[in-house]
Amino acid sequence: MRLRATCYWIFLTSVLSVLSLTASAEKPHSADVIITNARIYTVNVKQPWAEAIAIEGEKIVTVGSQKDVELLRGPTTKVINAKGHLLLPGFTDCHIHFLDGSFSLLRVNVAEAKTLPQIQKMVKEFAAAHPDAPWILGRGWSYPIFAPSGLPDKKYLDEIIPDRPVYLEGFDGHTWWANSKALQAAGITRKTPDPANGRFVRDPVTGEPTGAIQEEAADAVMHRAIPVPTREERLEAFRAGLREANRVGLVRIHSAGGVSISSSDLQNVELLEELGTQGELTVRMYLAYRLDPPSVTQKQLDEIDAARRRYHDDWIAAGAVKFFMDGVIEGHTAAMLAPYSDDPKQIGSLFWDPAQYQQAVTELDKRGIQIFTHAIGDKAVRTVLDSYERAAKVNHTSDARHRIEHIETITPQDIPRFGKLGVIASMQPLHAYPDDDTLKIWARNAGPERASRGWAWHSIEQNGGVLAFGSDWPVVTLNPWSGVQNAVTRQTTDGNPPDGWLPQERISLAEAIRAYTLDAAFAGHREKTEGSLEPGKLADLIVLSQDLFKIEPSEIVKMEVMLTMVGGKVVYESPAWKSVASAAVGGSTE
Ligand SMILES: [Zn+2]
Repeated sequence: MRLRATCYWIFLTSVLSVLSLTASAEKPHSADVIITNARIYTVNVKQPWAEAIAIEGEKIVTVGSQKDVELLRGPTTKVINAKGHLLLPGFTDCHIHFLDGSFSLLRVNVAEAKTLPQIQKMVKEFAAAHPDAPWILGRGWSYPIFAPSGLPDKKYLDEIIPDRPVYLEGFDGHTWWANSKALQAAGITRKTPDPANGRFVRDPVTGEPTGAIQEEAADAVMHRAIPVPTREERLEAFRAGLREANRVGLVRIHSAGGVSISSSDLQNVELLEELGTQGELTVRMYLAYRLDPPSVTQKQLDEIDAARRRYHDDWIAAGAVKFFMDGVIEGHTAAMLAPYSDDPKQIGSLFWDPAQYQQAVTELDKRGIQIFTHAIGDKAVRTVLDSYERAAKVNHTSDARHRIEHIETITPQDIPRFGKLGVIASMQPLHAYPDDDTLKIWARNAGPERASRGWAWHSIEQNGGVLAFGSDWPVVTLNPWSGVQNAVTRQTTDGNPPDGWLPQERISLAEAIRAYTLDAAFAGHREKTEGSLEPGKLADLIVLSQDLFKIEPSEIVKMEVMLTMVGGKVVYESPAWKSVASAAVGGSTE
């Protein structure tokens, strides 16, 4: 290696000295960083594969052969030898609740627990390890653990922690679980009325709250009793989230709007700016302003405009608005065109009055503000497509790239409208993970006909629609490789169903990568500067432990990110990579 590099250098300097005699103005100045000996999949159709890449400052200057790039190697150039590993553009997560997810890293996470005793053990251990925490907060439990009711009870938490409040969010963010101390701290008693869109589950005999708290009722504890995280706590959470994002290969996120007020990304944008000033912001941020019913007000429009004017660079940009049009299929709150199959009395409902929503959409579209709307049921999806179509007609706008988030079911007639109207399908491949939750609860509620168009990635793409992939962290992991694997297999990690669930909706590995890179950049109006490895674009890239194009699809989740670079700076190196790199000191990394 050393010999070859030295030879190149001698060759290069002699070429350069000849060049400098003839045309000193054209002498190529050396790159800051070159990455050599890589198997580069660029996601650029004009040059899909390359061997090496040269970077100057934050940007890529050359992508090409080893020889092309060696020409830019100078005495101060840092050389990274990728040792034949696969190199891709860095990944974007197009739907993430970043601060909520970041907090989940610092709190107890019971998502892996399969039984109640396991949850109790984890919570107890966490509490013991954090003796000074006034509240024990966490998330991740799922309903089947509490069969047959499917709902948790305060008594199971009281058994392990009677003296401190405990509050644990369910994995889907729709139900919370409090112990007696937490109910007491929030002043919730038998006499507390339910709020409009929520419920304190009660014992049928005594009327006492059981500790299971649904939907909006959760705010009673969250906002009234739990201390708002301090600045320092929020900064600490952001730092943990940024590290974790870089570790799994993420270089940009599109915020899906904060779930709780204290954790909305846009409300914490100053903290992100502060991290940026200190050189600690290592993930690019596209932030959304959350708009709730009944209507959009002038004050909100002004706030959105102000945020957009202030934040619009490569690191932090605001200028998107997030709406929620409906709920979820599991809870029968997603808006459907026909009744739910398991319960014909329910059909779900639209959260927005369609006329008010149309007015808000038209107003934002006119101002060139990008819209993200959560729509899961086929009726919600249709209502949003209709509104986007009408707004473009009224305003004579084009290329607005408004998005629909989730799209879990869709009618056959609406599938081609994504391509036709230029609406982005922002979907989260891991939500279609075919476990019992999906195949037994989701599919039962939707019924076989609608379930046959569940997460119709291939159909939407075949009809000209652009897919933008994300996670919905903390609902599921932010690790995009689980998403990539499910997009290409639609199988559980133990290989079920054997042919994949709705195998016709699987997509290829290259398509899945594009939905996390170039199409994700397109979905945030950034495809000219990000999303593929081309000269002039930002040097955001990752090096992987395995060649995804050569391994079995079922092995994708076992793959690890070895190195993550954002804007030409290495922001993450895996332990395995570090040991290889240090063993090679004096070799080609000089
Ligand atoms: Zn979400």
